[in-house]
Amino acid sequence: MDKKILSIRAHHFLCIQGFQGYGYSEDFVRNMTGIIKYIRENSDCKINLISSCDDICSACSNNKEQYCCNKEVDNMDNAVLIKLGLKEGCTINAADVIKLVNRKLKTEEDIKDICGNCRWTEKCLWRLTHIL
Ligand code: SF4
Repeated sequence: MDKKILSIRAHHFLCIQGFQGYGYSEDFVRNMTGIIKYIRENSDCKINLISSCDDICSACSNNKEQYCCNKEVDNMDNAVLIKLGLKEGCTINAADVIKLVNRKLKTEEDIKDICGNCRWTEKCLWRLTHIL
C-alpha cells in the first residue's frame, strides 16, 4: 500500500523534533503526536513541504480558514526554506528534511532567525539538543 503524503510547513520540522507534548489544545497535541508517530514509523514517507497551513495546523485554534493568526510563522517557514536551499511546494522524504534541518541549522543565529519570539522556545527539545 502506498504511504500517505503529508503536507508539512517548513518550520514544523523543528517543532516536530522539539515536541514534548505541549500544545494549544488537547486536539492539537493528539494530532501532532499522531503525525510525529507516523513520521517516526515511516521515515521514508513523502512530504509536501509548504509555507501555509498544513496537516499539523488542521487541529490548531490559530488556524482560521487555512490562515494562521500568528503572521510570524510565514517568516519562519521562509527562513527555513532559504537555509535548507529548498523551494516551497517541493516533495522530499521526511528523513531527508530532518537530516538537512539538523545539518544546516546549528547556531544561535539560526535560532534567532527562525524561532524569533516563538512561545514554545523554552519547551523545545530540538533547540535544547541540536544547537551547538
Ligand atoms: S500556530 Fe499557526 S503555524 Fe503553528 S500549528 Fe497553529 S496554525 Fe499552524
